[in-house]
Amino acid sequence: MSAKKLIAGNWKMNGSLAANQTLVQALLAGIGQPTCDVALCAPFVYLPQLQALLADTSTVELGAQDLSQHDSGAYTGDVSGAMLRDFGVRYAIVGHSERRQYQGETDVQVAIKAKRALAAGLTPIVCVGETLREREEGMTEFIVKRQLSAVIHLNGHCISEIVVAYEPVWAIGTGKTATPDEAQAVHAVLRAQLKAATEHADRVRILYGGSMNAANAAELLAQPDIDGGLIGGASLKAPDFLKIIAAAR
Ligand code: PEP
Repeated sequence: MSAKKLIAGNWKMNGSLAANQTLVQALLAGIGQPTCDVALCAPFVYLPQLQALLADTSTVELGAQDLSQHDSGAYTGDVSGAMLRDFGVRYAIVGHSERRQYQGETDVQVAIKAKRALAAGLTPIVCVGETLREREEGMTEFIVKRQLSAVIHLNGHCISEIVVAYEPVWAIGTGKTATPDEAQAVHAVLRAQLKAATEHADRVRILYGGSMNAANAAELLAQPDIDGGLIGGASLKAPDFLKIIAAAR
């Protein structure tokens, strides 16, 4: 188990200048001194706004939802890790299932993005997770190990610097959550895989994501290998997100 938990909000493609300001102000007003690390992963265009809103605090850090697999050059529409660092970004989600599904991102691309993030001084939050069909076919362990293995293979000893997020695809945005036992079982598999790759596996935070909310967070976060949460829908409501942060001791 890693020392300090991480609660990261994934806003996905939501927000506006006005709504972001209201949300961040409400979070800052209620957050106090959390015992966990907290991050907000916002759409690229709002990162400068969030950087300004969070300028007076170190309590909440900034994250992006993706980054380019390239350093610079003729990649229209891409945003590099170095560009994100220019705006004070600390984390970058890579391999979210929505990008794997809608943008066709492969395990290898995800591994390259994790490498680019590390090279730019960002911490990649590497998402892995099985679809409902894969779970029903008994493939969960095989799928998450295959996805993580690509990242381990390309990143070698730097693997201890990443964050992993186990996000069962069937639980994302559906209101269906893995039970604490189901989640812990997969987290233990991922921890064992990390242990085989690095002596610092206990340093790697393995987050759970998939309909985590104010009501179920405490029980999930109490599991020995669940080191935090990647929160979608509930991160858009300040009271709910604050309750999840409070549950992460
Ligand atoms: C996510 O998008 O990473 C996520 C976990 O979403 P939700 O919490 O809404 O299921």
